[in-house]
Amino acid sequence: MTTKKHLTVANAGSQPASRPTRAQAEEAVRTLIRWAGDDPTREGLVDTPKRVANAYEEFFSGYDADPVEILQRTFEETDGYDEIVLLKDIRLESHCEHHMVPIIGVAHVAYLPHRRVVGISKLARVVEAYAKRLQIQEKMTAQVANAINEVLEPKGVAVIIEAAHQCMTTRGVNKPGVTMVTSRMLGAFRDDPTTRREFLAMVGR
Ligand SMILES: [Zn+2]
Repeated sequence: MTTKKHLTVANAGSQPASRPTRAQAEEAVRTLIRWAGDDPTREGLVDTPKRVANAYEEFFSGYDADPVEILQRTFEETDGYDEIVLLKDIRLESHCEHHMVPIIGVAHVAYLPHRRVVGISKLARVVEAYAKRLQIQEKMTAQVANAINEVLEPKGVAVIIEAAHQCMTTRGVNKPGVTMVTSRMLGAFRDDPTTRREFLAMVGR
């Protein structure tokens, strides 16, 4: 077990001091419905503000997640395992901070252990902790890599995110089928071409 760390990137999306009440949030949804041109009191829409608030609790649950805590529990009995650990094709659902519409894609997360490893599901949970916030893909990619790097202190970390942005596929320039790819390589993945190539081959790029 490692000692509790302060993570410089963990709370980059700092929360406002006073959170509005649930009633205020639901009222805001009614305002948007009226502004879009519909009647929030008609039968089909009457429960919509409540459903939207519930959905927001899921979409943005990452603000309550602590990546340091998620990564804290590590295992040191690895029998000297010192090869790449890769979790591939982690489904990712986020929301773009400019339009608040979905970013849907996958993340590939790898690290090169240094004496300790973490439960593999924890890598997926770290992705989720940052994805379930208002995001831009570049920042999310860096946050996932930095968190693993700072808490696990491995020999290297590599993160690739491939995602479609609905603000681009359903509006604006309207380009369906376009995905954005971002990557963050640290330590051996950045400095050692062999390690980097091995990782890219493993994720099939
Ligand atoms: Zn956007």
